[in-house]
Amino acid sequence: MFECVIRNGSISTANSTVVGDIGISSGLIREVGPANSLTGVQTIDATGMHVVPGAIDVHVHLELPFCGTVSCDDFESGSRSAACGGVTTVIDFAIPSAGGTLLEAHDAWMKKARGRSLVDFSWHMAITRDEHLDEIGAMIRRGLPTFKEFMIYEAEGWNSDDGRMFRTLEAMADLGGMLLVHAESSRVLNELIRRHHVPELMREHGARLHTITRPNFVEAEAIERAIHWSRVTGGRLYVVHMSTAEGADLVAAAQRQGVPVLAETCAQYLCLDDSVFSKPDGHLFACCPQVKGRADIERLWHALTREVSVVSTDTCSFTREQKGMWMVGQGADAYGDWTKIPMGLPGLDTLVPLLYTLGVESGRITLNQLVSLVSTNPARVMGLSHIKGDIRPGMHADLAIIDPEFRMTVSPERLQSRCDWSPFDGMNLAGFSHTTLVRGVPVVRDHAPVGNLSHGRFVERRLPDAG
Ligand SMILES: [Zn+2]
Repeated sequence: MFECVIRNGSISTANSTVVGDIGISSGLIREVGPANSLTGVQTIDATGMHVVPGAIDVHVHLELPFCGTVSCDDFESGSRSAACGGVTTVIDFAIPSAGGTLLEAHDAWMKKARGRSLVDFSWHMAITRDEHLDEIGAMIRRGLPTFKEFMIYEAEGWNSDDGRMFRTLEAMADLGGMLLVHAESSRVLNELIRRHHVPELMREHGARLHTITRPNFVEAEAIERAIHWSRVTGGRLYVVHMSTAEGADLVAAAQRQGVPVLAETCAQYLCLDDSVFSKPDGHLFACCPQVKGRADIERLWHALTREVSVVSTDTCSFTREQKGMWMVGQGADAYGDWTKIPMGLPGLDTLVPLLYTLGVESGRITLNQLVSLVSTNPARVMGLSHIKGDIRPGMHADLAIIDPEFRMTVSPERLQSRCDWSPFDGMNLAGFSHTTLVRGVPVVRDHAPVGNLSHGRFVERRLPDAG
């Protein structure tokens, strides 16, 4: 007799789909058996439903001070969004304050998250000063084996030059961790921004200047350079939020040559193109890197079963009012300055539904491939595969139960995010989670968050699996 049995569901992992029962006790999956074979104190009937491993969104920024404001989704609203979207673990980025250590950043993020999350959590450690390199070993021992460097964001004091990237990758080769990079070419980008940052052009082009000043080569050059340092050091590299066809080509070529580089893309780069910047509210869609063209979208879908290992969200939500910070001047003279837009999009509610609807329903990927991209691969490459990302005995009972008949037309008030707009407004999506369990405990029932915000836990991660 198990504490809980999920009965008669269509259980899909990265490798297989079977109809069966899942027996859960003490937060762990204990047995996967034939349909109607297991008994539990509690039973959840999953007849006609998909049962999949909870998604792991490895790229979120909750309550992040950024662009002169703070992202509006914190661990409370962010973890409710996550849970309703079938995401059972989030990995944020702990970014040290000016002059602060990695340990202080870890403590600061623990304060934001502990007691305030429905889902489990961890973070990558952002290296923003050379002194942080001395803390890498200690962070790995605390269960934090992944590090982040920004190739842009000088104004925030976050950016790393090639020297620091090189040294960090040497440390990764030595100690076994992984370096995540935000790859955009900062000097060329700054030059393009400088050329266009004049009132006449801003009046004429508005938010379109965000995409005009970030041609694809801005990302491609930075990815190429980061791959170069990974190749010569042997340090493991992971390109976050890759948005271009050129990036995918570079990563594919490097992987063929044996360079230890992995890549992630985000749902928005698969679902939106840069025509959004011509909309009346086009400035809302500004994020870095921005969404690209139709050819990039097609190339990235093609990459999902090849050189791209993970799909995440880069959730960094800002309300309409926050996005409105871009306005300069008053009345008829007012215009928008795209460099002042708080950069980022909400996304935790819609990661799995977008991939389910545009990917699985339209036949571009299988449900098993969806599970790989949002759960099994993220667990493997981020050091969680010993506890998460699969449905088998001994794993955390982190599960999303999806009713394939349920559809929702997206509008901000129907989502859990505090954001008062959605980039996916009006899209009719399936794939939302009917019931979500985190370590065996329901955090969503009948599409609504339930349970205690103290349920989510910090999870210690191991060194990422090779390959
Ligand atoms: Zn990010």
